Amino acid sequence: MKKISFITVLITATLVIAVAQNRKSSPKAPVAELPRHPKLVVGIVIDQMRYDYLNRYWSKFGNDGFKRLLSQGTNFDQTNYNYMPTYTGPGHASIFTGTTPAVHGIIGNNWYEREEGKTVYCAEDKTVKPVGSGAEEGLRSPRRMLAGTIGDQLHLSNNAQSKVVGVALKDRSAIMPAGHTANAAFWYDGGSGNFISSSYYMKELPAYMQEFNKQAHPARLLQEDWNTLLPIDQYTESLADNNPYEGRFKGEDAPVFPHKLPVLKEKNGNMGIIRSTPQGNVLTRLVAEAIIKGENLGKNTASDFLSVSFSSPDYIGHMYGPQSVEVEDCYLRLDLEIAAFLRFLDSWCGKNNTLVFLTADHGAVENPQFLNDVGIPSGFFNDKVMMDSLKLALKKKFADSLVLAYENEQVFFDRQRLERKGIDKRAVEDFCATYLMKFKGVAHVMTAHQMAMSEFISTPRGEVQKGYNFRRSGDVCVLLQPGWVGDWDRVTGTTHGAPWSYDTHVPLIFWGWKVRPVVSDIPVEITDIAPTVCTMLGVQFPHGCTGKTIPATLFWR
Ligand code: ZN
Ligand code: ZN
Repeated sequence: MKKISFITVLITATLVIAVAQNRKSSPKAPVAELPRHPKLVVGIVIDQMRYDYLNRYWSKFGNDGFKRLLSQGTNFDQTNYNYMPTYTGPGHASIFTGTTPAVHGIIGNNWYEREEGKTVYCAEDKTVKPVGSGAEEGLRSPRRMLAGTIGDQLHLSNNAQSKVVGVALKDRSAIMPAGHTANAAFWYDGGSGNFISSSYYMKELPAYMQEFNKQAHPARLLQEDWNTLLPIDQYTESLADNNPYEGRFKGEDAPVFPHKLPVLKEKNGNMGIIRSTPQGNVLTRLVAEAIIKGENLGKNTASDFLSVSFSSPDYIGHMYGPQSVEVEDCYLRLDLEIAAFLRFLDSWCGKNNTLVFLTADHGAVENPQFLNDVGIPSGFFNDKVMMDSLKLALKKKFADSLVLAYENEQVFFDRQRLERKGIDKRAVEDFCATYLMKFKGVAHVMTAHQMAMSEFISTPRGEVQKGYNFRRSGDVCVLLQPGWVGDWDRVTGTTHGAPWSYDTHVPLIFWGWKVRPVVSDIPVEITDIAPTVCTMLGVQFPHGCTGKTIPATLFWR
């Protein structure tokens, strides 16, 4: 026994020495090898950026913004949303969770919440306190989102050594991307002109954010009129500056340049007006840089994560529509901000240590009146007329109107009343489906029962189903025809929300750490972004992820 033990020890010792020598003699990693993790990951969202803007404004862009991202990075030019409704809250949640409203539960910006018996806002949370402002705007958290994000997975992967922060002018666009375990999220309070947060994240604003607010950038940025960047006759991609499809600031006689911001701001929410100007993008870029410096993001041993959403293109798009000089000018100026931000990242961590991805939370339709005038099917759908008519019809048929709410193109029944009165829910759903099809502009009506019994993969029913959350969504879903918009209180500008390509086709660009210059036309769904980024970072997919990783061989490693 003793002898065998001695031999075992001898063999083991020899093996250990051999392994140690082997390690010692193994060649060192090549000097040029890139770091195993990017030091900083930046997820950029451009609110309402249609894919085609990249092409439409290409000849007017400089070399250092979008053109730099595309020439040095990967452009997945067939990236689409795979659900409806294509709104800001759901869009931001879907990009960073890798799943759709069916799972993450952000079924709209607002929805009728049965458990609370009222309409709620996707980021509202009355249990928290504002930080940096005494106002309602601070009562925000990600608690209504039912799935985790890329940032949450980073935290889980390394015992929260990564720092994860989100920022945007819109609260929901800062909060959803950063996720549940975020170190911080900051958003803009138009009343004070300050960036604020909530007690969900912190007790008080960090010193660097207090300092940023003290510098009063919004007041400075609003001292000048909004003029076109280039001589206005060069905006040949857009309609004439003065056209009937555009909305206006309060106090303006016509939707034309120059927009006199110093004069207009009083009637348009004071510091809040910056949201609807390209200056909002300047402010967003400045605050993103202040956060990176203040939090020292990218100087950590683990990968840090920042989401930055540029909200102003959405406000400008809503007011003026995709055919306007204002939207074109917004993107030409945004191009300059992207260029400045990339230069900042160059000097901060360097391109090879920074992974950037850029996408949008939805697109937008051309103004329906404009479409109609050029002969393309379209229309403004009057939700109220339809719902008043439906309620009367239900009353006639079932002796009760039975409807609690109509939101995000979904009819919510009073389910308790249905039960109490012994009315068959499915019979009411079927009645509604048949009745609502009578209205001009309705393409299709789907019921909760259909959604429970079948899996739809076809367009557009598959998109409706992926946006349908059984705990939160309504009982009957209305889908409008292409080019039609509902829930829109004016005939100028534009909106979004549909599963049609103008709302679903968005840019997706990867740039920086390990990314190769590639143009790829493989079909990508918006829910593929999060698992792809997680694969690149070597972490688990977000809980609830239903997307799939874009193959590494296509564009990185
Ligand atoms: Zn949006
Ligand atoms: Zn919008």
